[in-house]
Amino acid sequence: FLPHLVASMEEVEQTYIMIKPDGVQRGLVGEIISRFERKGFKLTGLKLFQCPKELAEEHYKDLQSKTFFPKLIDYITSGPVVCMGWEGVGVVASARKLIGATNPLNAEPGTIRGDLAVQTGRNVVHGSDSPDNGKREIVWSSAFELLLDMNETYIRIFTES
Ligand code: UDP
Ligand code: MG
Repeated sequence: FLPHLVASMEEVEQTYIMIKPDGVQRGLVGEIISRFERKGFKLTGLKLFQCPKELAEEHYKDLQSKTFFPKLIDYITSGPVVCMGWEGVGVVASARKLIGATNPLNAEPGTIRGDLAVQTGRNVVHGSDSPDNGKREIVWSSAFELLLDMNETYIRIFTES
């Protein structure tokens, strides 16, 4: 029984989920992926990336005018992130529920941020806030790979420094 398959195509949404550098460094990748899998959503893509500054700025461009923007860009580019596409009925809103409130201190226990994080500036995971942004951000994450390849700046996590 695969819940994501029991739906008409119009109902199926895509969302972009990104495990932020703190989630990767704290060893929470499996824990976070597992929550989306157990819920019944379908993993459609997954990449480990070092996010270049200009693409972090593009991803968060709506927050450009905020005072925390420079810190947010430093955070997102501070280490590898895990970029994922997830698919399913209602996946955009449901993923936001699984993730919990932006400030982990306000996030309910049982949510990713509620269980695993304390600070807004280290809240372990990103999830698209609308179906349109879900599609846009997944496209962005593929463009990201191409741009990285073109610039030969792809940093492999397993490369010894
Ligand atoms: N953020 C921050 N300080 C704030 C608000 C947001 O550092 O006061 C960071 C936080 O990491 C958050 C990200 O900026 O996840 C994007 O903010 P948004 O309001 O889109 O929150 P989200 O959609 O991630 O819950
Ligand atoms: Mg957001």
